[in-house]
Parts: sequence; structure tokens; C-alpha cells
Amino acid sequence: MNAPRQTTEETKLDNYTEDLLNELFADSNNDTSDDKHLVDTIVTLHAKAMESSLTGPIVALYQALLEAQQAASLTPAAFNISRDDLVQLAVKHEQIDEHMVSIGGRVSQALPIASTANARVEEYLARKDTEAPSGIEQWEQIQENISRIKRELKMSDDDWNSFSGQIRNAVDSVDTLAKLIDLPADVLASIADVTKSYRMRLTPYYTSLIMPGVLNDPVMLQSVPTGEMIDNGGIEIPPVAADHSPARLIDQFYPRVLTIKATNMCAMYCTHCLRLAHIGRKDKVYSKDAYGEALDYIRNNKRVRDVLITGGDAFVLPNSLLEWLLGELDAIDHLKTKRLGTRIPVTAPMRIDNELLDILEASNDKKPIRVVTQINTPQEITPVSQDAFRQISKRTFTVLNQAVLLKGINDTRVKMWKLCETVHESYVRPYYLFNCSYRNPQFKHFRVPINVGQDLVESMYGNIPGDAIPRYIATAGGKIPLHRTNVVSLDNSEITLRKPWSGEEVSYPDVDPEVYANEAFAFRR
Ligand SMILES: *Cc1c(COP(=O)(O)O)cnc(C)c1O
Ligand code: SF4
Repeated sequence: MNAPRQTTEETKLDNYTEDLLNELFADSNNDTSDDKHLVDTIVTLHAKAMESSLTGPIVALYQALLEAQQAASLTPAAFNISRDDLVQLAVKHEQIDEHMVSIGGRVSQALPIASTANARVEEYLARKDTEAPSGIEQWEQIQENISRIKRELKMSDDDWNSFSGQIRNAVDSVDTLAKLIDLPADVLASIADVTKSYRMRLTPYYTSLIMPGVLNDPVMLQSVPTGEMIDNGGIEIPPVAADHSPARLIDQFYPRVLTIKATNMCAMYCTHCLRLAHIGRKDKVYSKDAYGEALDYIRNNKRVRDVLITGGDAFVLPNSLLEWLLGELDAIDHLKTKRLGTRIPVTAPMRIDNELLDILEASNDKKPIRVVTQINTPQEITPVSQDAFRQISKRTFTVLNQAVLLKGINDTRVKMWKLCETVHESYVRPYYLFNCSYRNPQFKHFRVPINVGQDLVESMYGNIPGDAIPRYIATAGGKIPLHRTNVVSLDNSEITLRKPWSGEEVSYPDVDPEVYANEAFAFRR
């Protein structure tokens, strides 16, 4: 045990501790307490603080004394504790603590700050599991749904557990949907109508994530087209590819990153798909010529260092084709990194087989692969999809999420925080949050105002880990960040910043631009 230094004149307490002691010994209304229980408690705490070699008992004593002062104006003297006793304990606390934290700093500053911070998340913690339950929390209900769907579709376990079984049994007509989900007649009629113009396809697995009896279920809204897609009408702006495709299958906004749209197929067709014009109308198998021309464009463009294989959904491609495509890319010297865009870990996680994982790992060993997915609600993450992500994350560089901000699906604090946390707990990093595009009037009913998204993203700072906070983006011929600035004022080199979690403003001295630009530094001084 550390023997505390004897307190003498030279004992230096910091200002926090001095202030705290002054507060404890401030005016009393009594120098004794007749609350016997309180006296016993504090006397016991004092004894423990004296004999222990830990900081905790000292903190507990000081906190109890502070409470006695604040609640009943009792000074430590009421418990037979002198200022000298407390100074001694303060010195001991600072000696024990590795970082020499003072008792005043801890009790009067750090603990109240931590407790104020706690208040910022209380509401979220109280509401997150009822307002935005994950598929992990709803797993029991989902398993019931799975049994019902398997029975109705006469699917064997082998069918259910294989990607081909999921695709063969995909739900693509309103009649099949009606057998699996209890929906009102007018809703079914409207789906029947809209599916004449827009394709619907849900894997039986994705269908099982829809909660029975919830009309605007967030999974159903993403996969079952509604009448608004037709009613919205309006002028459809030509798809991105029309003005951004310099070569077959290629979209390019940037000099060093481009996409290969390697398929137009997806396991499930999203009602908010940005590529509505290409995707899902009719499945197409692309020729080797098409891939060849796309690869030639990359081979001949030495600036390109990162390629995104997207679609559609990259994991719809058969393993053999993916392996070939990755091999071709890995053989291009100037190409350094790759990305694969896929929603399949949430729409048909059974696709993530060992053969695919081996292919990913082998190519990742040559040049880093990031898998980029899209999860918009925690309900889309089940133990099965979480396991798929865990496996992928072990075999690749990283897994990233690009969510779309959608009305009624993830446009509240509770829903968005829960989404980002659940994604993070599933070995995936929130990467982008897209403001839902204006380009396709078919899904304008899902759009959320820019500032609502800014509030949501801003609200996450300080409340969830920084690497679980996505960047907020508008897609308009490239990805444009929509973040709000927290620089309140820029006055010469004195800057005022705002803490997004509390609104508190802090001053932040900037470096002198003259010094930055002109002063020689380090070994060149
Ligand atoms: C999204 C996208 C990219 C990649 O953008 P990052 O900001 O690097 O994620 C590149 N090219 C096109 C055409 C895209 O749509
Ligand atoms: S998975 Fe992507 S490409 Fe496919 S329908 Fe959904 S948003 Fe569109």
C-alpha cells in the first residue's frame, strides 16, 4: 500500500480540490447530524477510504460528503472528519491514480460531466429495442415466419439454405405474396396494379423479415412496390449511365475510381433503387465481350486505381465469373484496390458459401477488397446475415454499409442510431448515408429533407462511436458531402467550434497561416 505523504504546508492541491474542500466546509446549519444511519454510513466510508489502497473508496467518501452538504448543509465536521483528514486522502488519491487525477477533478468535474453525458442517451436506450428492433431481437418471430413461408412455398430445408433455392422460389407475384403475408384487399389490388409496370422480387428469406400485421413494415416498404410509384409520375431524369458511361458497363465520375456494372440482376429488387431504369426489368446475362471492353478501358486508363464491381448485385454473379473478373483486375498493375457492391448478405445470406469466401480471400491477398453493402434498417440484420458479414469481414479488408435515408424506415434518431449500432455490431462499418435521390420520381414519397438527415447524422457525434457514424451524401454526378459545419466563426486565427452533442461552443486557436506557409521547421530550422 502507498503510504500517503504527511500533509504539510507544501502539500499542493489543485484548484478543483481546493474548491471542493471549500464547498464541503461551507456554512453549515449544524455541526452534528442526528441522522444516525447517515453518520454510520459516512463513518464506515471514511474508515474504508483510510485503509484501502484503491481510489474508489476515497471517491465514495467525497461523494457522500458532497451529498450531505448539498442536501442538508452538513459539513464533514458533522461526521468527525477534519479538513486535514480530507487533505490527506486527497493526496493519497492523487498518488494512487496513474494519471495523477485529483479527487476534486474526479468528483466535482469528471463524474458530473459523465452523468450529464449519460442523459443524452437515456431516451434512446429506453426506446431503441421497441421502436427499432433488430432482426436479431425479432429472431423468434422471424423463425415462425420462416416455417410458415417454407410450408406455403413447399420449400425443403435444402431449398431454403441454398441461393438457387431462394431464387427459384422468389416471391414475384401478388398472389404468392398474399399467401405469405396477410394484407388488406385494397393493398393487394394496388400491388397487383403497380407490379404490371414495376418488377417485384423478394427472396423467401427476405420475405421472412417482414413482421406480420405491420402495414408500413420497413422491410416490406423496401421490397413491395406501392401505388405511389405510378401516381408520382413526373419527369424521369435519364439514368446516371446516360451521361457518365465512357465505356461499355463502366460508369465514371472520378479520375481514379470507377464502377463496372457487372450485372443488372439482384436477389431482391428495392423499391427505392437508384438504378431502377436498368435493374430488374429483365434479367440479362452479359457477354464476355462486354466484360472484355470494360476491362480494356481500365487497362488502358493508367490513372484508375480503384474499381467497384456493382450491378445490380455483384454477388448474383456465379463464383466462376467473379473469380475470373477479380483475377483480371488483380493482373492490372496500376489497379490497386477493389470493391464489390452487394445486398445479398441481407437479402439472401445463404449465397455466402465457402467457395465464395475462398475466392474473396485469395483476391484480397493480392489487392485489398472491400465489400460494400446496403442495410437500411436493423430489422434486416438477423443472426444469419450477421454471421455472413462476420465471415466476409474475416476474409476481406473491410465491409462497408451505404444506407439510404428513407421516410418511415430510418428517418428518426432512434432508428438511425440503432441501425448504425447494429451494423457496427455485425462487423460492418457505416460508410455513407445517401439522401434519397430526386432523379427517379417513382420513389419521391420516400424522400427526406436534407436538413432532417443533417440533424440525424449530427446527433450521432459524441453519442455513438465515431467509426459507426456514416458520411451524409447527395448523389448528383458524384457524391457530394452534405454535412453541416461546426465552425461557428472564423475570426483571424481564433476559431469558435460547436460541440454537436451539446451545442456548447469552444474556442480553438488556429495555427498562424504565415508561420505555416513560411517558417522552416524540424531539422531544417
Ligand atoms: C459511388 C461511386 C463511386 C465511388 O465513390 P466513393 O466516394 O469512392 O465511395 C465511384 N464511381 C461511381 C460511378 C459511383 O457511383
Ligand atoms: S440491391 Fe441495389 S441495385 Fe439491386 S435493386 Fe436494390 S438498390 Fe437497386
